[in-house]
Amino acid sequence: MTANLLDFDLEGLAAFCEELGEKRFRATQLYRWIHQRGVRDFDAMSDLAKSLRQKLPDVAHIASLPVLSRQNASDGTIKWLFDVGSGDAVEAVYIPESDRGTLCISSQAGCAVGCRFCSTGHQGFSRNLTTAEIIGQLWFVEHTLRAERNTTDRVVTNVVMMGMGEPLQNYNALVPALRTMLHDNAYGLSRRRVTVSTSGVVPMIDRLGLDCPVALAVSLHAPNDALRSDLVPLNRKYPLAELLAACARYLPHAPRDFLTFEYCMLKGVNDQPSHARELIALVTSFNGGQGLHCKFNLIPFNPFPDSGLTCSDKATVQAFADLLSQAGIVTTVRKTRGDDIDAACGQLAGEVLDRTNAAKRMATLRQGTGTVHTIQVTAASAHNVR
Ligand code: SAH
Ligand code: SF4
Repeated sequence: MTANLLDFDLEGLAAFCEELGEKRFRATQLYRWIHQRGVRDFDAMSDLAKSLRQKLPDVAHIASLPVLSRQNASDGTIKWLFDVGSGDAVEAVYIPESDRGTLCISSQAGCAVGCRFCSTGHQGFSRNLTTAEIIGQLWFVEHTLRAERNTTDRVVTNVVMMGMGEPLQNYNALVPALRTMLHDNAYGLSRRRVTVSTSGVVPMIDRLGLDCPVALAVSLHAPNDALRSDLVPLNRKYPLAELLAACARYLPHAPRDFLTFEYCMLKGVNDQPSHARELIALVTSFNGGQGLHCKFNLIPFNPFPDSGLTCSDKATVQAFADLLSQAGIVTTVRKTRGDDIDAACGQLAGEVLDRTNAAKRMATLRQGTGTVHTIQVTAASAHNVR
């Protein structure tokens, strides 16, 4: 198996070139061909030294995950399902808006955190994605859409790590992918246009602040430890006080000096005025009354079978948002996109839910005879994360 060059950030690529006895600056040329131009054929990389062009096919390749299916929604949202082997799949969702194009990316097949309201959590953990598989989602979507639209302009302007998986439980693969998103010789996205969403892996929040400080979204979902531990089991390991302290430590590194709290609205569970008041007290009383510079993004729950949970009424969501806003906390309600292709936020079902049938369904998809209505995405969270 030769090296997949999507696995490397620029440093990694430079080390790889050195191993081949080539100058490090060749790596910059290679990096630009791969990420800025979407070229995978070494022969086409015309300014690369001929000696290197000849060596590369024997030792390296450039490949993203195989596509199982693609669905286009009437509102322009596009969802891809990628094959990660062993009957598992992950999704990426592209969400166009007037002023930007957001890509929601997966970091793991399944997830080990096991949140009660998340279908990815219900299906369990299969495996971490590699750096190549993470950045490959952006590489593939950016260059596919550019080619279709016959443009050299940027198509993906924002990336959110809000697809399948807990990105901070796949830290070592995540960071080189983030670096490539940010690098001027690759995608050149600014830090505030790349968002990592986490259920609260405290030590990794600290490391991210030092290694690659991008925008941070923290999935809060509850105003106290008892409820949060029930909804997000990771809270038992890293309770709210520790999580909020980590958020405060991240703030000096955060682009634009704030972070986003995500809050999934579950009917009768965490959506009452008393919860809103407890949340306001939690956030504003933090650090001896200094508060935490944050905004809230309320996510209407996307139901899935056997969750035993339902979405809060519209009026309840609005009332909750109003209470937070009145307390001076900037609050948005996430709108749903891509409804007709089940690309609405939060449902990341994955074909993998039912492992016995997954392989069979995938085989059907591969033959192009299947439909993918049953697949729902977590992704498409994106919309309100600026
Ligand atoms: N694991 C990370 C990122 C992926 S989930 C995290 O938990 O933050 C992205 C967002 O979708 C999270 O805020 C998550 O809480 C939310 N989400 C998961 N399942 C959902 C559902 N069924 N309905 C609405 N939002 C959901
Ligand atoms: Fe994992 Fe995030 Fe789903 Fe929780 S919400 S199970 S952390 S993907």
